[in-house]
Amino acid sequence: MAEIIPPEGVLDAFREADALLEGHFLLASGRHSDRYLEKALVLQYPRNVERMCRELARRFEDSRPDVVIGPTTLGVVLSYEVAKHLGARSIFAEREGDGRALRRGFRIEPGQRVLVVDDILTTGGSVRDVLEVVREWQGETVGVGVLVDRSTAPLDFGVRTEALLKMEVTTYAPEECPLCRDQVPLVKPGTTPKPSSSPLDAETAAPAL
Ligand SMILES: [Zn+2]
Repeated sequence: MAEIIPPEGVLDAFREADALLEGHFLLASGRHSDRYLEKALVLQYPRNVERMCRELARRFEDSRPDVVIGPTTLGVVLSYEVAKHLGARSIFAEREGDGRALRRGFRIEPGQRVLVVDDILTTGGSVRDVLEVVREWQGETVGVGVLVDRSTAPLDFGVRTEALLKMEVTTYAPEECPLCRDQVPLVKPGTTPKPSSSPLDAETAAPAL
């Protein structure tokens, strides 16, 4: 019997990796938040990644995917690990123009059953781009699986969507942000400050997201 990872186990994996940041963050949307997931950090710990991906694989076993696909960069790892447990092929979709595409000789054969995986669901943009790639190649999407759903509005991809953890993240417009009012320094996440630099230096660097 495969071990089943509960939602709190997923949160623990992010906590153990120091990937769940608390403070005052400027999100890519321009809104402010008191929590931020520095999601790549969780991939430092393969054992936790394996447990989470095995759980995603378990949830889609019945769908018998031929191919698992994720968006670069983190989706490469997640696709590989989920596919390993499903005995499926693993590929990834890279940025191209405004959307995504298969490169490096990757293919989806018409009618192949495809599972889309991603790390964090926020606006659903990268998942939609990958779904479009599957459509272009005439694959059949059997589901969408993500580690964390922190979307604020319900997302409907037209296929079964599973998240290991649903996380409520409160965001604020800058003009009504209580952290701004309390003059908590605002940080643009997504950059790694050098060991010698102060947290304030991160503000001047460009966000990776
Ligand atoms: Zn603020």
